[in-house]
Amino acid sequence: MACERIPVLCENCRYFKPYDNEDRTGECRRNAPQPVTASDTEEKYAVWPEVHESLWCGEFEASGKVRSSANT
Ligand code: SF4
Repeated sequence: MACERIPVLCENCRYFKPYDNEDRTGECRRNAPQPVTASDTEEKYAVWPEVHESLWCGEFEASGKVRSSANT
């Protein structure tokens, strides 16, 4: 029985939320958004880290939907 290996990439991770654009980027929703302060206005807000779909980290968990078969 063949066993398909899921490429360890953000795009195949359950925590990846892709943006609706062509940059192949999205948000990592592994943790709560982190507070940041705008350098120009000093406005405070919170953001999730932006990641490219070809990146990965040690917290990867397969989403069950394989978007890529390339392991870059
Ligand atoms: S940075 Fe890690 S946890 Fe976040 S989407 Fe990528 S592989 Fe998943």
